[in-house]
Amino acid sequence: MTLSDLPVDTRADRLRAALGDRVALAEDAAYDVGRIPWNVAIDQHPFAVARPETAEEVVDVVRAATASGLRVAPQATGHAAGALADTDLSDVVLLSLGGLRGATVDPVSRTARVLGGSQWNDVLAVAAAHGLTAMHGSSGDVSVVGYLLSGGLSFYGRTHGLAVDSVRAVQLVTADGAIVRASADENTDLFWALRGGSGAFGVVVSIEIDLLPYPDVFAGMLLWDASHAGVVAHAWAEWTATAPEAATTTLRVLHFPPMPELPPFLSGRSLVVVDGAILDTDAAASALLAPLRALEPEMDTFARIPSAGLVAVHMDPPDPTPALTAHVVLESLPGEAVEAFVAAAAQPGLFIVELRHLGGAIARPAANGGAVSSLGGEYLLHTIAVVPVPEAFAMAAAAVRDGVAPFEPWRTDALALTFIDGGGEDVTAGFGAAVTRLRELKRRFDPADVFASARPV
Ligand SMILES: Cc1cc2nc3c(=O)[nH]c(=O)nc-3n(C[C@H](O)[C@H](O)[C@H](O)COP(=O)(O)OP(=O)(O)OC[C@H]3O[C@@H](n4cnc5c(N)ncnc54)[C@H](O)[C@@H]3O)c2cc1C
Repeated sequence: MTLSDLPVDTRADRLRAALGDRVALAEDAAYDVGRIPWNVAIDQHPFAVARPETAEEVVDVVRAATASGLRVAPQATGHAAGALADTDLSDVVLLSLGGLRGATVDPVSRTARVLGGSQWNDVLAVAAAHGLTAMHGSSGDVSVVGYLLSGGLSFYGRTHGLAVDSVRAVQLVTADGAIVRASADENTDLFWALRGGSGAFGVVVSIEIDLLPYPDVFAGMLLWDASHAGVVAHAWAEWTATAPEAATTTLRVLHFPPMPELPPFLSGRSLVVVDGAILDTDAAASALLAPLRALEPEMDTFARIPSAGLVAVHMDPPDPTPALTAHVVLESLPGEAVEAFVAAAAQPGLFIVELRHLGGAIARPAANGGAVSSLGGEYLLHTIAVVPVPEAFAMAAAAVRDGVAPFEPWRTDALALTFIDGGGEDVTAGFGAAVTRLRELKRRFDPADVFASARPV
């Protein structure tokens, strides 16, 4: 008999004996609080939930879980719970890392040390005090580790590359329950694997990252009624074809239901929005934006703002949201693809249809990078549907899939790991050529496959 054949009661007793009330089983009140992810469309039912608050407590959980024949799934926020839902969690301890948060900044080396469950807002607050910022994404409540170690597409991306390339060192709890540091000088194979392999190799308890020297940034959005989607989309496609690497922007059509908590310019409206950041002087950025501003947006917020404010520009939902998504990476955006974008955005059932401009430094592999250090392709096409009630799940899943299907003629084989959101998507496309070595290293560092992750190698 192996550990994984132990009766459920025996496993539960062993876990409880080792961890006491630091673990919640299905019959405990704390179980339901702990198992609910940010993406509340996903109904996770792990074997147990543990909420460690220190690195030592993470060690205790990993050792107790493996001694009970259980696997471990680190989860910081549950933004990627859709991707983890492709894994059977019935023998998994969900390690909910929301209690392991905090960041400190070294202004001299321009680095930050960030605890494993921290969100970008935690880092930006302390970095801003030193006139610094970081390679965050569009949302301040996504976790630093979950985003960085799967690549990370930032509004600084076309200038500075994939966010994962800003990782300097990782401290993690490995499958044997040891605390290990991986960097360019220590445990170098593990350091390579973590940068792309993410939670498949252990539970990250802290991470050290380079910061960017920007106290402020020229950023904002241009907004029109969606009736202008065709004109704006063609203009943005033409504009991005020659835009310098200093500019990283997105184009979206959004459909907001009428909701009293939304501002009037959003509530009940369909809109087309261009937003992002331009790392240049005000004069140069304004000159660059002129062709888009000539289309007379109803709202124009592009201006120099404190860099910590960049996470608000994309208007990502501030609270847990039930949503499903799909994406493809495009190698070009000719006129027919723009027409396909406009048509997809008019389909019922989709909340957002988005194009992110890639290219520039995002497409260039980093010197001394890890398993994933760049993403080819010129644009990322992303569809998002809200799941207002569980019964709408299948319809939303079909809507996001159907939304990306027309882009087949311009699609590359690549996928952006951070945008892989479940539904049986082929994760290996996100690892590219690194997948073979990643799998070898997974067998070496986690031979019993202890760690369940949103994007398994
Ligand atoms: C509203 C929204 C906006 C987004 N914006 C962007 C964007 O601008 N750019 C972009 O690239 N992506 C973006 N994403 C995608 C997001 O970056 C990924 O889904 C990311 O993986 C979420 O990380 P998380 O830790 O918050 O989520 P979780 O679901 O908690 O974790 C995802 C996975 O990360 C790993 N993980 C997390 N923490 C740890 C840890 N401490 N130790 C080990 N493994 C860990 C695990 O494998 C886990 O399964 C966005 C997602 C949403 C929902």
